[in-house]
Amino acid sequence: MDLGNICGLVRKTQASIVENRFLGKRIDDDGVRITMESALTARDRVGVQDFVLLENHTSEAAFIENLRKRFKENLIYTYIGSVLVSVNPYKDLEIYTKNHMERYRGINFYEVSPHIYAVSDNSYRSMRTERRDQCILISGESGAGKTEASKKILQYYAVTCPASDQVETVKDRLLQSNPVLEAFGNAKTLRNDNSSRFGKYMDIQFDFKGAPVGGHILNYLLEKSRVVHQNHGERNFHIFYQLIEGGEEDLLRRLGLERNPQQYQYLVKGNCPKVSSINDRSDWKVVRKALSVIGFSEDEVEELLNIIASVLHLGNIQYGGEDSGNAYITTDTQIKYLARLLGVDGLVLKEALTHKKIIAKGEELKSPLNLEQASSARDALSKAVYGRTFTWLVNKINVSLAYKDETYKNASVIGLLDIYGFEVFQHNSFEQFCINYCNEKLQQLFIELTLKSEQDEYEAEGITWEPVQYFNNKIICDLVEEKFKGIISILDEECLRPGDASDITFLEKLENTVGGHAHLTTHKLTDGKTRKVMGREEFRLLHYAGEVNYNVNGVLASSRPPCSSTSLARCSLFLLSLCLCLQAATQFKTSLAKLMEILMSKEPSYVRCIKPNDAKQAGRFDEVLIRHQVKYLGLMENLRVRRAGFAYRRHYETFLQRYKSLCPETWPSWQGKLADGVSTLVKHLGYKPEEYKLGRSKIFIRFPKTLFATEDALETR
Ligand code: ADP
Ligand code: MG
Repeated sequence: MDLGNICGLVRKTQASIVENRFLGKRIDDDGVRITMESALTARDRVGVQDFVLLENHTSEAAFIENLRKRFKENLIYTYIGSVLVSVNPYKDLEIYTKNHMERYRGINFYEVSPHIYAVSDNSYRSMRTERRDQCILISGESGAGKTEASKKILQYYAVTCPASDQVETVKDRLLQSNPVLEAFGNAKTLRNDNSSRFGKYMDIQFDFKGAPVGGHILNYLLEKSRVVHQNHGERNFHIFYQLIEGGEEDLLRRLGLERNPQQYQYLVKGNCPKVSSINDRSDWKVVRKALSVIGFSEDEVEELLNIIASVLHLGNIQYGGEDSGNAYITTDTQIKYLARLLGVDGLVLKEALTHKKIIAKGEELKSPLNLEQASSARDALSKAVYGRTFTWLVNKINVSLAYKDETYKNASVIGLLDIYGFEVFQHNSFEQFCINYCNEKLQQLFIELTLKSEQDEYEAEGITWEPVQYFNNKIICDLVEEKFKGIISILDEECLRPGDASDITFLEKLENTVGGHAHLTTHKLTDGKTRKVMGREEFRLLHYAGEVNYNVNGVLASSRPPCSSTSLARCSLFLLSLCLCLQAATQFKTSLAKLMEILMSKEPSYVRCIKPNDAKQAGRFDEVLIRHQVKYLGLMENLRVRRAGFAYRRHYETFLQRYKSLCPETWPSWQGKLADGVSTLVKHLGYKPEEYKLGRSKIFIRFPKTLFATEDALETR
């Protein structure tokens, strides 16, 4: 090992010692006690482990500086109270070993350095001791590390939770569901080589012994448009490349595929068949194995691959004909393969891809499609088929994860939510609208569960405190989802209205119905100055996180079932009728409402992920980019509320039970009122009046350090 390496290692070790010191634990891994003096100089270097401890807690610059210091020392995790902030290191850190997992087992939050395992363990213990279902909400923009975080949590449970033989299969299946879902639902984008193109909520179910016994996945908003189109530098879903690169010779022959992604129209749009960080061939093997661990039969795998291959063939269908009408198919080989792989009649398929059925005077007539219509019918079919396949896949995984034993009926649950963060692009479409609406709802949940409940609790406990002003985004959620006059209602109305409904009539209706709303504006409604930066086909929403312009171009088409315009669905083919099931705005609203209900019934923990730079590079801390995320994630507001309040609260009984041995008057037991016992105890411990408050049933402690000192006393007693 050279000198540079050694210096680096020493620095790392020192940092971790000091880190532990600040986090409440006094002793480093080697049992060396460090002096307060070195701790103080190190504090300058590694920052504070909890933003609550920042001296200048209202300063965004101080907040970011603290993140930067820690990031430089590879300390990617920091708390805001119980919220974990994580900065993607873009390199493998030695902090996810089995030893690390062991270190976080059963330990209190502040006794060890902040870690995703601490959050995992904390949720697990609350579930076990308080018998309350938990959820861990992971947010952040694409590439910030959400999916990695959710995998780390799952691995933590798989390794540390008790197990039995049967549980081993469940654990395996839980873990193996990831590569499968990622193959079909992830893709290389400009922002992340392994970007999840769907939102995921996963329940992990535990039995009364705390062993994982099952799971259930809900999926949201698969980005189906990616099947037929990718931006420059991006790819289609991984599975297509895995199959082409890794599929065995005879399999490819049977599917009629060539081992060259460049041959397929649906794979060439982004001009990016290979990605240096991805090995499609070995991933193929992993996915094949995972499919069998999860319990897919050979027939089912075959069916699945038939459909994947069919999508590629569909993409290669080309049309001849004129713009005026009568498109015809010029690629018979594709039809031949499709007919075989999907088990449909070639002629019927051909007709379905070139005609629409219309009903005139009660009679069904066929009318030819022009070139453009025919290509979009083909693409709509491909998207719908892929979307349905994905849903089928998730259902299948759910069947395999479902716990079978009746005695597990009363399982406790930890839910993991890994869903896209707020998205603002140059061009924002219906997809971004849904994603941002979802984030708006999650922010509301955060307000409800954290900010509001925090302040409600002070009120209930009769604690005097300085109320913190925060922006309640309910007004925006209402604007989107309110019955009759919310944006989604208006969209629905226009979708169902026969006649001349178009994207522009939708926009006009918006203007007429909610034009006066403080959070909505359109080209027509803006003053001359703003008008310049808004297109005629756009409406702008002022979200809690900032302004976003949405282009209505194609809004109606994407929220309508794709076939209602071409009537492909009325065709007798079962496959084509599948495409009726596209997730429309109202369906999304309903599934989101269900998700909120699920989350509301659980005790939440938050992981806020930050992406340090756009280049996916280790060690680069782009301040502008990070400031932006700190704002969108509402971290300063979160800290403000946390600081205004009390870092800790404990029921009198719990508090007395734990610390009664530290005071002769409360030891071995306190006979009087619990509140008086706690009061006697903390006075004996020397708590200053500004450090704590006594509520109706709980003690509230303002700073973590007060509790650390008490914990210290317990240990050195
Ligand atoms: P998101 O789901 O938020 O879009 P991912 O979790 O897929 O982002 O992370 C993007 C990439 O960043 C990962 O593929 C991995 O290379 C890297 N990454 C994320 N989190 C970590 C981590 N904790 N340690 C090391 N690398 C990470
Ligand atoms: Mg992801």
